Amino acid sequence: MVFDKKNFSDRLIHWYEGHKRNLPWRKTKDPYKIWISEVMLQQTTVQAVLPYYRAWLKIFPDIRSLARAPLQRVLKAWQGLGYYGRARNLHATAKMIVENHRGKLPHDPDVLAGLPGFGPYTTAAVLSLAYQKVLPVLEANVRRVMMRLAALHGKADGRHDKAILAELLKTIDRKSPGDFNQALMELGALVCRARNPQCLLCPIQTSCAAYARGEQDVIPAPKSRRSQKVKAVLGIIRKGAKYLIQQRPETGLLAGLWEFPGGKAKRGETLERALARELNEELGVELHDAKFLLKVEHCYTQYRIALHAYACRLKTEPALEPGRQKWVALRDIHKYPIPSGSAKIVHFLENK
Ligand code: SF4
Repeated sequence: MVFDKKNFSDRLIHWYEGHKRNLPWRKTKDPYKIWISEVMLQQTTVQAVLPYYRAWLKIFPDIRSLARAPLQRVLKAWQGLGYYGRARNLHATAKMIVENHRGKLPHDPDVLAGLPGFGPYTTAAVLSLAYQKVLPVLEANVRRVMMRLAALHGKADGRHDKAILAELLKTIDRKSPGDFNQALMELGALVCRARNPQCLLCPIQTSCAAYARGEQDVIPAPKSRRSQKVKAVLGIIRKGAKYLIQQRPETGLLAGLWEFPGGKAKRGETLERALARELNEELGVELHDAKFLLKVEHCYTQYRIALHAYACRLKTEPALEPGRQKWVALRDIHKYPIPSGSAKIVHFLENK
């Protein structure tokens, strides 16, 4: 990879000092808080993370309080942030750190990388920001900036990652590796954006091969974004003032969260038929009748899900699986971690 590295790090960090966004996790050196922010920021925007970060630190101010909490409380605090595996990993790792590392986040990258949720990015980010370890981070913003700097063509799909990491290792600021990493990510977020990069405002413009060749808009090659559309049905089943909810399996999408019974409609299946089949499979009951209530659209990972909720009457009362299926008053459903799509349906029912 070739780009002009003269004063590169100085120019970058100087720009960062003058332009960085005022974010709460940038004002702390507490490894726990940095870790929480880094995990929340994966696949989630800064604006979405801010209220969650503040609320989380009130509920779980340190590693020990997180380790002590029941998983359901952790998932509830995470509700709405998506990619719930992150919350499960935070909880599992907090317990391991308390049990095996006296409650202190380990300094050794090999030890940290062995804990749940610590992939190469999180390990490098937390250690460089909290402990000033010379470890470069590589995530979407950094990848895009580096591809443009060296005019590397192709999609930003990781094909150049080995070369980029090798180059970052040569370039990273040895005295301020945390600031260097944050500066590169911030530049990608604010200036070297995926669309319409602001090259005239860029502190490293004179090092940039893509800018010199006028190729900044075609590097990286645009991604084809296709999310999978899924139609799903949910049965709203009442017994007096209580509603039937059930817990999802411990693995897979939205693991361990609570929701109304139902599931995906099969190809060619009507929604009503899918509802009857799902209720029969999950609860062993026959549907008497169903009245359509509302449709809610929501995105989970690569899925775009249209949830169709029906008020259902059953021919017989279901025999519930203890612990996994419950009758719960509407106002109490909020005590359970539920996916955002189901939360919209609860909101609808509350205001009906
Ligand atoms: Fe990105 Fe433009 Fe700066 Fe190059 S000059 S790094 S393309 S913002």
